[in-house]
Amino acid sequence: MRLDDFDALLLDMDGTLYREHHALPGSPETVTRLLAEGRRVICVTNNGANTPEELATRLQKMGLAFPPGAIHTACHSMADWITSRWPKPRIFNFAGSALEVELKGRATFVERIADPCDVVAVGTHTRENNVPFDFERALVGLNLLRAGAHLVVGCADRVFPIQGGAVEFGSGSWGALFGYGADVPADRWHHTGKPGAWFFESLCHRVSVRPERCLIIGDNLESDIKGGVTAGMKTALVLTGVSTREQATRSPFKPDVVFEDLAAVYRAMR
Ligand SMILES: [Mg+2]
Repeated sequence: MRLDDFDALLLDMDGTLYREHHALPGSPETVTRLLAEGRRVICVTNNGANTPEELATRLQKMGLAFPPGAIHTACHSMADWITSRWPKPRIFNFAGSALEVELKGRATFVERIADPCDVVAVGTHTRENNVPFDFERALVGLNLLRAGAHLVVGCADRVFPIQGGAVEFGSGSWGALFGYGADVPADRWHHTGKPGAWFFESLCHRVSVRPERCLIIGDNLESDIKGGVTAGMKTALVLTGVSTREQATRSPFKPDVVFEDLAAVYRAMR
């Protein structure tokens, strides 16, 4: 398997490119080389709270020079999922301002319990990235769900890592708060991030690439490798994040290759 075999390289962000706001050793140089060689490189992330522009700025500060157009987020796949089912959706947005930017002019945003509503969109609320939990608005979302709106959640992640080895609640946990509270049935409760098939369908559609022509490189067996394998992509696990080589041998979703880090993937496959 060589990099030339692929039309697009999909790079997970946290745990693959950087950790705790610092680029991983060798990752900026590898990204620079991949881009200089004219390869199509796309960052894929379950972060749906920030716009691609905000994420690109954050990456740039770590020496990772990705244009906003080369970043696919859980917000993109959420917006694509919603608009594929409702041509003019009525949304209660509890997923952050990135969704509003993404769906500007294509959706009606509702704010009151009495408003007709198709979708309650829920994403991560985080101290780390300053997306505070709004108790009053949460109650509006809860009641709209009880009235029959669909619950669309950025991803199923329970937690995500923050500085010092601690974790914060992920989108999946916030979604569960709403889903449990409103007793939302499974057919009205959706996750649109990694490892769900929709995330990768949305990505392939947006960048016009076939899944079998993609290599996904990530640190997480659950979201990156399972998601990639299910979507029909080739997969490379790097050991700079959450999953270990030992876990990979026991996982039902086996990566095609395992390397110490992103730089080692490049050295072995270029
Ligand atoms: Mg990761």
